[in-house]
Amino acid sequence: THFGFETVDENVKPEKVYDVFEKVSESYDKMNDIMSFGIHRIWKNVFIQRLNPSPGIDLLDVAGGSGDIAFRFLNYLKTKPNPNMESSSVTICDINDAMLNVGKARAQKSGYTDENVIKWLQGDAENLPIQTESVSAYTISFGIRNVTHIDKALDEAYRVLKPGGRFMCLEFSRVNNDLLRKIYDSYSFTVIPVMGQIVAGQWKPYQYLVESIRKFPDQETFKNMIEYAGFRAVTFENLTFGTVAIHSGFKL
Ligand code: SAM
Repeated sequence: THFGFETVDENVKPEKVYDVFEKVSESYDKMNDIMSFGIHRIWKNVFIQRLNPSPGIDLLDVAGGSGDIAFRFLNYLKTKPNPNMESSSVTICDINDAMLNVGKARAQKSGYTDENVIKWLQGDAENLPIQTESVSAYTISFGIRNVTHIDKALDEAYRVLKPGGRFMCLEFSRVNNDLLRKIYDSYSFTVIPVMGQIVAGQWKPYQYLVESIRKFPDQETFKNMIEYAGFRAVTFENLTFGTVAIHSGFKL
């Protein structure tokens, strides 16, 4: 692949990823809170603040099964003057039914049931069941590192965005402080699978999650990949010393 970044186990990866999220879907929320000490909520809030959507926007949230980004997006719009909620929409596209069901159940609970405003769609980030140049923003949060061919997912993001549309990605990245990185590495390699076993009764899926974080390209490499897909004005912002990064780019 480009940029010296190898996607490993290309033949087995999609099935493996499906299996992982099938297994973790029920305990997904609880595990996120435990593993990140609740910080993932802050990262996601910042992500939506940076997107700063205005009423009238139509968002496609890819790998968004849990609804985490979609609900924050709608809640954020509500805080705007004259939000006119019917004028905006979010489509959540995820490859995994079990994850989509988690999100749908949460949508019922929070009263987000208007199908003109929130739509759930099963589909692959590498081959989106979405029309060309049809959405004004594309988000992907903690999803792109699970995709087998990241370059294909980026090409698809570029295809479905309208000219002027914005791509935004929230993903684990490279911690930029040597000491913190050492602590973080040993935490993630030892503690996360153990907690997965204790809390969710699953070791392997959490071991996979940690490995996928390690293999994902660093901030600069990923920025180059986004530019290679055609995006302009590509920038990134580190959160929590680069534990995660927000990448942004425009289809101009
Ligand atoms: N976006 C949510 C969040 O931030 O909490 C969920 C992130 S979860 C860690 C990763 C999601 O990516 C899972 O729901 C999984 O089913 C989905 N996924 C994995 N590979 C995918 C692909 N090729 N296309 C679409 N979704 C995918």
